[in-house]
Amino acid sequence: MTESDSGCSANISQFHPSISISDNSKYKLACTGCGGAFDDDRLKCPNDSGLLRTSYRSRQLVLKNVPGMGKFHDWLPVQEIITSDSGPITYKSTELASELGLDNLFISFNGYWPEKGAFIKTCSFKELEAIPTIQRLRNSGKALVLASAGNTARAFAHISALTGVKVYIVVPASGIARLWLPEEPTDSIHIIQMGKNCDYTDSIHLAERLSSLPGVMAEGGARNVARRDGMGTVMLDASVYMRRMPDHYFQAIGSGTGGIAAWEASLRLLGDGRFGKRLPELHLSQNLPFAPMYHAWNAGRREIIKDIDMPDAKNLIHGMYADILSNREPPYSMAGGVYDAMCSTGGTMYGIPNNEARSAQTLFERNEGIDILPPAGVAVASLIQAVNEQKVDAGDHIVLNITGGGVKRLEMDYNLFNIEPAACAENSIVPLEEIIHKKVIA
Ligand SMILES: *Cc1c(COP(=O)(O)O)cnc(C)c1O
Repeated sequence: MTESDSGCSANISQFHPSISISDNSKYKLACTGCGGAFDDDRLKCPNDSGLLRTSYRSRQLVLKNVPGMGKFHDWLPVQEIITSDSGPITYKSTELASELGLDNLFISFNGYWPEKGAFIKTCSFKELEAIPTIQRLRNSGKALVLASAGNTARAFAHISALTGVKVYIVVPASGIARLWLPEEPTDSIHIIQMGKNCDYTDSIHLAERLSSLPGVMAEGGARNVARRDGMGTVMLDASVYMRRMPDHYFQAIGSGTGGIAAWEASLRLLGDGRFGKRLPELHLSQNLPFAPMYHAWNAGRREIIKDIDMPDAKNLIHGMYADILSNREPPYSMAGGVYDAMCSTGGTMYGIPNNEARSAQTLFERNEGIDILPPAGVAVASLIQAVNEQKVDAGDHIVLNITGGGVKRLEMDYNLFNIEPAACAENSIVPLEEIIHKKVIA
């Protein structure tokens, strides 16, 4: 899709606020809407709804000599180097690549696959968000409140178990089955389960209300730069491995935060100067029948219109294979969000039916020899569509983000423990006392 038929109108340079750092700080936050600069770790700009973005002192990336994501310390908003062995790994595909007729297909695997050096034990790239987010708040003495459809809950619960930082996680009933850990759950983890008719977005609303209580802090979702820069290490790892940025980046999205993160990481790589002069095209995929960003983007709109893009949303979500990709309020329209990322990179959006996601998942597992999660099947299916529709050339450098996988591989090495909910909430407007009185929030 070209910029004219996508409806992109803004001047691309306006997406990249540039601020200079004259003091000793590692980074500042810049608003992608108004360009304002901030010294503190706030989540929102006081002037507009634009996403805040980190602007780092280091223009060039110098890798640290540690095993996991900590090697990208220069471009992570934390002061102490992360030493966990958890992080993205990149390898060049041979089997799937030849199946699809691609010469330069690189896979970013985010999960557990020790034979490849992949040690994300909660098996999704949500752990890349959890590690820097919890590290940042570790010394504040505060507890973290967040919402999750399952994978985020597992990631934040795991890091809570490792660090002792308290977390309160609101999970829809459909996500409860995904609440396991590779270690015994600790007292620092508190799960609040929502009623049967609630979805992920209801969980977000309840989490927002809980974050107004004293002693707790909202995690911030897409507005949290630690989350985005943590996920951005996927693009960094792939580009360091290939010694250049890819031409194309493929990922399944529910909120699109990972897509924004990949775009922001490539802007930094562009500024570094050693990784190429063209931003990778974003190829972002949603799982039909629930695909609001796919519909809005293909209609050339910056706005998602509920009645057109997701009529009867809860019903549509019910019909999804990868139901974790079901955010009803994604960070799409605001400055610095998914729409801008797509415009800036000349991106493509895909709507993937369940049967294509399933068969792509099987094709990947058979060719690459590792189990992957349903959303990753959606991303593989989008790559197949792109090949069939000649949106990519055989020689192009392609990064396929396998956002989650290796659960079956993990079960061979670890006992998995279920996390029991500490309380239930029938809907997102229940009086908070009902939850507090159950001593969930101390
Ligand atoms: C959260 C998640 C996604 C979607 O990520 P966003 O960029 O936040 O939309 C994809 N795959 C898996 C496995 C996930 O857990």
